[in-house]
Amino acid sequence: MSPPRVAIPVPDLSPYREGNTGIPYVWSFDSGRPGPHVGINALIHGNELSGAWALVRLLELGLRPQRGRLGLSFANIEAFAHFDPDDPTASRFLEEDMNRLWRRELLEGPARTVELRRARELLPHYRSLDFLLDLHSMQTASPPLMLCGLTPKGRRFARRMGYPATVVADAGHPGGVRLIDFEAFGAPRRKPVAVLLEAGQHWAQGSIDVALAACLHFLRATEVLDPELAMRLAPTRSAGRQRFIEVTHAVTVRRGPFLFKERFRGLEVIEREGTVIATDGGEAVRTPYDHCVLIMPSRRLAPGLTAVRLGREVPPPRI
Ligand SMILES: [Zn+2]
Repeated sequence: MSPPRVAIPVPDLSPYREGNTGIPYVWSFDSGRPGPHVGINALIHGNELSGAWALVRLLELGLRPQRGRLGLSFANIEAFAHFDPDDPTASRFLEEDMNRLWRRELLEGPARTVELRRARELLPHYRSLDFLLDLHSMQTASPPLMLCGLTPKGRRFARRMGYPATVVADAGHPGGVRLIDFEAFGAPRRKPVAVLLEAGQHWAQGSIDVALAACLHFLRATEVLDPELAMRLAPTRSAGRQRFIEVTHAVTVRRGPFLFKERFRGLEVIEREGTVIATDGGEAVRTPYDHCVLIMPSRRLAPGLTAVRLGREVPPPRI
């Protein structure tokens, strides 16, 4: 299947190479007033351009925190440097997925890849954060969603942000640990909180606005920016009623070929239990209950990879 068209230009990140933290492509601004250290991160996946554009916009605006500290980081710069609009999926990573390696044993172990080297370089930055917004995007033109991990603190924080409209609580991937689940972020009793935005399709113009809006809602919710200023700058002020979805199943490709019954985009609600949504090696894949929500159907359908996640709507958390 040919990938969708790249409808946005590739941002020029060369002005931001030096950073001001001692780590290339990592910027930090201190308000000089007490408050949390909050970070917005883009390009954990080198081909997800909308997040990079949102950070460029914030840097061009010269936005500074009014309380606490604000860190802006571009993660997998080497994969990004290989981005090719004619083969835009190839630069997701170079040697390994940078959002599957966030385990201390791996980071402190002997393995060497491009991604591990950069992760080790970024580690002190991520470990210093009280709040993290990790900007991603999706293969399909799915409505935006926030992944808040499995902790109650993640769910409550997503509610406090109020944007985007859909929040998904999930455990990540069997293939490795995500940055938002790393150490303190994933520990229910520790304070730091991390959430992951899936802004929309990787190379759609609208995904940049979604990513930028999420950044400003994040800065409002963490109180490093005056709420009025944050909302004046945000492309979208309100997402309306939020809905919370708990992931119950990750459908992994077993044998293949894995074929979806329809061209699902994500967030479709399948009303009846037992509905066939795909076949895997000729075997039917059925929904396990009524009102089942499909989350991020994948186009990468090799055995061992997650094809789609299934979830059900749950009441929003109290804050
Ligand atoms: Zn991603």
